Amino acid sequence: MNEATIHAILSRFLLAGSLPGGMKLGEHRLAEIFGVSRERIRKVLHRLGHERLLEIVKNRGAFTIEPDLREGRVVYEARRILESGMVAHLADNLTEAQIARLREHVEAEADAMRRGDQPTWLRLSGDFHFLLADMIGNPIVQRQANELISRTMMLVRRYETTAGSACGCEEHRDIFKALAAGERNKAVKAMSSHLSLVETRLRPIVCDDASPPIEAMLAQEIAAYGAEPHLPQPRIGPDAGAVA
Ligand SMILES: [Zn+2]
Repeated sequence: MNEATIHAILSRFLLAGSLPGGMKLGEHRLAEIFGVSRERIRKVLHRLGHERLLEIVKNRGAFTIEPDLREGRVVYEARRILESGMVAHLADNLTEAQIARLREHVEAEADAMRRGDQPTWLRLSGDFHFLLADMIGNPIVQRQANELISRTMMLVRRYETTAGSACGCEEHRDIFKALAAGERNKAVKAMSSHLSLVETRLRPIVCDDASPPIEAMLAQEIAAYGAEPHLPQPRIGPDAGAVA
């Protein structure tokens, strides 16, 4: 079977949403199902990763995306667009009092982190973004920002691998420094890369044990596509269940 066909079948399968989020799709297992080499499967998986139909986690493999997490990507994109614009505006307009207020906040975050006070630190790291939105002084921007920030905070609580990395303290400090220096482009870059980093720290939850039997499900999909299914032998022994 060629890569385009495998890609078409897998896309349809993933878009149907019949698999739970965070399920690993092993190269070896798929190579058996489609009767092709692992290299060919890997190429298709990477393409699906680029298309955001799968999550490719370095050194761990390909995982299905939880629907919430898929929506989360749209929210993070919206945050990058909105908050980049916010810091661009603030870099040109911050008062000395606002700069002092931000400095105080960044210090409080660092202090909570040093003391190992995670609840305070988590709250402060979210507040940093609320504070910036507040400083814009535009109720429409503020309302939009508050909604988007709250939505991503729920995602962070649910998917963050280590809650401690929700918002990097140093990343906030970089944003603050650029703002305080009135360096507009630097501030935009720092905010955009910060939000991208927060997003990449969200990881799908691995639930290999609860994986449904994708062999049967995919065989149906392959048959529906009109392609010839390759029937793998049942795997027994220590290798059973081994995934790429
Ligand atoms: Zn942050």
